[in-house]
Amino acid sequence: MSLSVGIVGLPNAGKSTLFNALTRAGAAVGNYPFTTIEPNTGMVPVPDTRLDRLAELFHPPKVIPAMVTFTDIAGLVRGASRGEGLGNKFLGHIREGSAIALVVRDFEDTDITHVEGSVDPVRDIDVIELELQLADLETVTKRLEKVEKTVRLQKEKATETVAVLQRVRDHLDGGAPVRTMQLNAAERAILHDLWLLTANPMVVVVNVAEGAAVAEPSAAVRGRAGQSGGDVVVISARIEAELAELEPADRGAFLADLGIAEPGLDLLARHAYRLLDLITFFTAGEKEVRAWQLRRGLTALDAAATIHTDFAKGFIRAEVSDAEDLLAAGSYNALREQGKQRLEGKDYLVKDGDVVHFRFNL
Ligand code: GDP
Repeated sequence: MSLSVGIVGLPNAGKSTLFNALTRAGAAVGNYPFTTIEPNTGMVPVPDTRLDRLAELFHPPKVIPAMVTFTDIAGLVRGASRGEGLGNKFLGHIREGSAIALVVRDFEDTDITHVEGSVDPVRDIDVIELELQLADLETVTKRLEKVEKTVRLQKEKATETVAVLQRVRDHLDGGAPVRTMQLNAAERAILHDLWLLTANPMVVVVNVAEGAAVAEPSAAVRGRAGQSGGDVVVISARIEAELAELEPADRGAFLADLGIAEPGLDLLARHAYRLLDLITFFTAGEKEVRAWQLRRGLTALDAAATIHTDFAKGFIRAEVSDAEDLLAAGSYNALREQGKQRLEGKDYLVKDGDVVHFRFNL
């Protein structure tokens, strides 16, 4: 699996500026692979100092970071769910398992038109959320009509499905996103293939003027995002764009001058990780050092399957240590002497920062 973030927002909110900055900044980090799948989709490495330090320890020919896919979803405007603008066509890019980054404009600039006529981030969240909810409402209503027809044929299962769909429909009808509903695993499974947009976790990205990038989000924006079950980050897309033009080595000083703690890519990746409940584990040796993404709460067997089906099929044991312990010890031998490498079985719950070596036999 790969972490994926769909960037949505009104025109002129700063989406493309941010998207270009993120993908360019990512592309310039060492010789990490960078791929443009489509013009509006870019894959960039997830920043992780543990990976960098493990690479320094082992000096392998290959260093492979975990990747995050950003998709710039253009064209969402008021009325998009009724077919205005290009919005609906692009909404298909938001898949289950992605996080939504909702970019709102919070900078004044008389040269840049605001489609809604004024700068008002809370209203813009309302507009976009409404469009996403209406799109979901349409999806759910259509499915409901279809299922209700078959209810008499395959009674029990269909009745349960109808009940969940009706609950979701009423929730959306009340102006709230699916992510704020309490749903159990069975109910989630029923909704799974509908790819409901508002079921995805959301982070509101407040795009502020260059001088305001260190500011905290306003209470109003925080409150509005919270009401939709969302997180908030403050970013200046302009600064990110300038940052992306710099050599990686010069970026730290540039940010320090502005009093900014970390680049927007790091910030967004970190939030998306948390929202999607992902962790990183590592495989590390002389041949390759690599970061892998895994959903929190999954096992050593799941981790093995992420790497290769053979690892899972022939799974014997996992040798597990913590990346910081390995880095402190300086080698696997020293780590073992210190008793800091464990042998774990299939059901071991993988933790963020684990370095795993799989023993398998086919
Ligand atoms: P999109 O339609 O959401 O993709 O918006 P763009 O990224 O194309 O940005 C629209 C315009 O706003 C562009 O001319 C950007 O240069 C400008 N812009 C983006 N962020 C900022 C900012 O923080 N400050 C100012 N003054 N302009 C910005």
